[in-house]
Amino acid sequence: MKRRKSLLVAAVGTAVILLAPVAATAAPDSGKPSPGAPGIGDPYYPGYGNGGYDVANYDIHVKYEPTTKVLTGTTTIVATATQALSSFDLDFALKASKVTVNHQPAKTSVNGFELVVTPSRPLREGVPFVVTVDYSGVPSSINIPGFSSSPWVTTADGAVGLGEPENSAWWFPANDHPLDKAYYQVSITAPNGLSALSNGNLVSKRSAPGGETTWKWAELRPEATYLAFMAVGKYDVKSGVSKSGLPYTTAVAQGTDPELVAATKDIDRTPEIVDWLQQQWGRYPFRRAIGGVVPNGNIGYALEDQTRPVYDPGFWAGGKSNISVVVHENAHQWFGDSVSVHHWRDMWLNEGFASFSEWLWAETHGGDSAQKSFDALYASHPAADDWWKFIVAEPGPHHEFDSPVYDRGSLALQAFRNKVGDAMFHQVLRGWAVAHRYGNATIEDFVAYASRVSGQDLKNFFQVWLFTGARPAPTVANGFPANYPTTSKLAAQTKSALRK
Ligand SMILES: [Zn+2]
Repeated sequence: MKRRKSLLVAAVGTAVILLAPVAATAAPDSGKPSPGAPGIGDPYYPGYGNGGYDVANYDIHVKYEPTTKVLTGTTTIVATATQALSSFDLDFALKASKVTVNHQPAKTSVNGFELVVTPSRPLREGVPFVVTVDYSGVPSSINIPGFSSSPWVTTADGAVGLGEPENSAWWFPANDHPLDKAYYQVSITAPNGLSALSNGNLVSKRSAPGGETTWKWAELRPEATYLAFMAVGKYDVKSGVSKSGLPYTTAVAQGTDPELVAATKDIDRTPEIVDWLQQQWGRYPFRRAIGGVVPNGNIGYALEDQTRPVYDPGFWAGGKSNISVVVHENAHQWFGDSVSVHHWRDMWLNEGFASFSEWLWAETHGGDSAQKSFDALYASHPAADDWWKFIVAEPGPHHEFDSPVYDRGSLALQAFRNKVGDAMFHQVLRGWAVAHRYGNATIEDFVAYASRVSGQDLKNFFQVWLFTGARPAPTVANGFPANYPTTSKLAAQTKSALRK
């Protein structure tokens, strides 16, 4: 995710079972059936996600009517019980009209934004089950306390559903936490003349009598809930194939605003950018689908939705080019989407890496070197600056998108690059992307991995950069170039860079 600068201050069917990304191991029932936990165990957000089951597949069918803003849907979830379950929760905020478990009616109750489902008979540990939820409501009318912005944004001619760290409750019932990745099929029905977009590949597009068209999308690589999105509206949709052979679908809202015109030019470079990212970080992690979506609405940020990031048009304010946000969101496909956080505290693994990729793009495309960007940023924050008090590896709830996670995150990676050399740096990051592909990882996992691959004990190094609330001293041990100039000298040298 990348917030718009203006908001920085305010920031606050059964066959499917065979596709299960996490193989169900047939385990004997252990103990009496009990309710699944209402949260997955994330220390920052105890209510996010749920316990007691693991989702393999979401088959989402929604219909959106822009004039009434009503969303109606049916979502079928295939999951495996990880304990004997008397009941379980789904994260959901719309009104469920009917819920079945294994095709039998289930009892439901609502507890805040948890839909509590009690099957007609308990679920056995290790055994797959199917949940179907019918629902309808007006997602734009839902406000969940503690959220600064809603994951549902109404546009002039449609809507977009997207959000981080939470997303699903506004448009599909889910186990909404990155620890439970799954496959997705998203079918969206909208009035003819509008486009309907989501992740992955377009499977079919069918028009029915009554003036409606259904677009079916499928993402058949494991995907975290916050990376699923849907968009309905008037878009200019383009598709083709990148030089390296990756099919793309881009969609920019129709209109003549300078923002949309500038966005179109930059989004058109997505294939080139993803090909460059493959040279840096290794093979593109997902199935053959890339792209980008720019809705005509005030989202406030850009989000790395899997295979197809979504961007606020405000990133192109004044009709100015903004390639770096496109680089950032696509770098997340490796760092964030394929290798995902274990808990939300691990956000440096997403934002530090995506932000550093922006520096590297500049360095290789006629802009400042990453070291020059490092120098300017380091010099612009005196040691007494509160900015250094923040613990990057432990940002705290609702602070995982604060600027030090991104910017001190980038500093740490450039320092790491200096310390081990560019070739080893790339080897570590590429290897990391493979070692944890489609999985979850912690910052501690990265420190251990980088130490192992580089043959250096990097615990103290990363302790200084990520786990300490103070400015790292400009020493070679901390990854600074030898004879690093004093801060005042550095500030004078980088003054021009700071004026930008
Ligand atoms: Zn980001």
